[in-house]
Amino acid sequence: MPRKTKIVATISSLNCSSKFIERLYNAGINVVRLNTAHMTHDDALKVIENTRQVSDKIGILLDTKGPEIRTCDNNKPLSVKYGETIRIKGAPEEKSKGKVICVSYKDFVKDVPVGSSIMIDDGTIALAVMDKDDKYLSCYVENDGVINARKSINIPSVHVKLPALSKKDIGFIEFAADNDLDFIAHSFVRNKNDVIAVQKILNKKKSPIKIIAKIENSQGVENLSEILDHAYGVMIARGDLAVEIPTEQIPLIQKQIVRICIEKRKPVIVATQMLHSMIQSPRPTRAEVSDVANACLDHADALMLSGETASGKYPEMAVRTMARIAQEVEDKTSSYMNVPYTLENKITAYLAKAAVKASLRLNTKAIVADSLTGESIRALAAYRGDNPIYGQIYDERVMRRLSLSFGVFADYIPMNITSQDSLNKSICLLLNDKQFKEDDLIIVLAGSFGIKQGTSYIEISTADNFKKKCI
Ligand code: PEP
Repeated sequence: MPRKTKIVATISSLNCSSKFIERLYNAGINVVRLNTAHMTHDDALKVIENTRQVSDKIGILLDTKGPEIRTCDNNKPLSVKYGETIRIKGAPEEKSKGKVICVSYKDFVKDVPVGSSIMIDDGTIALAVMDKDDKYLSCYVENDGVINARKSINIPSVHVKLPALSKKDIGFIEFAADNDLDFIAHSFVRNKNDVIAVQKILNKKKSPIKIIAKIENSQGVENLSEILDHAYGVMIARGDLAVEIPTEQIPLIQKQIVRICIEKRKPVIVATQMLHSMIQSPRPTRAEVSDVANACLDHADALMLSGETASGKYPEMAVRTMARIAQEVEDKTSSYMNVPYTLENKITAYLAKAAVKASLRLNTKAIVADSLTGESIRALAAYRGDNPIYGQIYDERVMRRLSLSFGVFADYIPMNITSQDSLNKSICLLLNDKQFKEDDLIIVLAGSFGIKQGTSYIEISTADNFKKKCI
């Protein structure tokens, strides 16, 4: 069986030749992620063009900076020692100097109360806010370290009033629409309004790009249900999440979010530090292998690599390692999930469940389904059955979008004459390509009342019988 868990790889413009991306594609990546916090439009364009040279099946996901706060530039990094006091100022246009750290949000001092914790650089340095006046927060340093320019700042449990979108984000969302990308992963989504703000820009551009909500603080976790009503999918962005929420809570939160997303038929990505040590080392730690396997046992749609592929020494090996771990889990366990029906499109939901159940009872080798919107394919994927789902898709964008869905292998098929003719032809190609045995059982889920009428039947027979229909 081919690997069903998808892999998202972050690619930097500093290492993005089409040869490199092709090597990663052959190693197993399904989606390329651009982290625009560190990119210009020209940088992003380079990665996009090179990715498209490799394959039209690779989904491209643009990750926004979101409403985040960072340290400002400085002339010299500030070394701090446990027990010292430093000051913080909300001054986006100024540079940090001496023992004053400037940050990119002007109302920082106003929004952050005395008694809060401030985490700098993904929690590498912790500060406690002891006092404040109109201009400065006075902070006690809780561990030794160096505070560099443009490092992340998190304030666990404090809700700052930053707007959902920075100027840079708006520019990049328009850029994504102009360049026909597949997904926008919006950072620090706190509630439905943050998703709606991105959707409004896409609507203005008449763009079909789908929004992935990055869940990376407590508000995002609390408001997951309303967020999912507006977003296409979710990324569990554990880098920031584990700074904003006590780290020991993350594994159970991950399980909870994955489960809810599967029930709502929304793709879910588990992200950050999955094979972090492979940035420097050719072999992962035992804990990392267990983390990747655990995300697969949670039945996430996709796993993400960040620095491992963006700037690491062993990018291809990291992808192969992740793919091997996922394959091992999938080969040795059944991933089937008895998720409840969705309320929308009951016929599709019912037939999808029946198809996956039949695949388990009859030991079939594949489910083949045609789709215009991808809805029936995602309905099938939700049950996490053992068979690969071969999506025969009448829209190239939808085909690429399915690069994020568990167990789905999508091909584009043109809409010739009738959907039935197109589907029969593509089933033939598929059966020849995948080299099924003559008596292998195959399930077809499709519609016989025209493409826009949706799913209406399941057919189960041998590969040989389906091939006979080809002539
Ligand atoms: C994260 O915080 O886990 C994440 C994926 O976001 P970023 O890499 O943008 O910090």
